[in-house]
Amino acid sequence: MSCLFCEIVAGRIPARKAYEDESVVAFHDINPQGPTHLLVVPRKHITSLNDLAPEDDALVGLIVRRARDLAGESGLGQRGYRLVLNCGDDAGYSVYHIHLHLIGGRRLGWPPG
Ligand code: 5GP
Ligand code: ZN
Repeated sequence: MSCLFCEIVAGRIPARKAYEDESVVAFHDINPQGPTHLLVVPRKHITSLNDLAPEDDALVGLIVRRARDLAGESGLGQRGYRLVLNCGDDAGYSVYHIHLHLIGGRRLGWPPG
């Protein structure tokens, strides 16, 4: 079954990549919800939060720390930013390859819509 973010990770579908290493890829969201909106994904296909296994714990740590570093590089470290992991229909989860949203550069409302 083909997966959009696996295709982006593999470079077969283009994206504006901001970072990549052997485990993690980050790229700009195609429909940004703020001046900064990056998606940080593991290269490994994990369908959703519901499918996370104990052996994925290190990978989750890597995407969170990478998002933190990318926020810093985007000048957001002091002013703030939001990291979001959606799951399921109620959260509007639409691409079934786990991805951490890094959103910032504007005042973000709470609670989210
Ligand atoms: P979700 O709602 O599943 O948490 O977020 C999926 C995100 O992927 C959305 O913010 C959407 O704009 C983004 N997205 C969907 N298709 C593409 C694409 O082809 N390229 C990029 N860069 N982002 C995409
Ligand atoms: Zn995938």
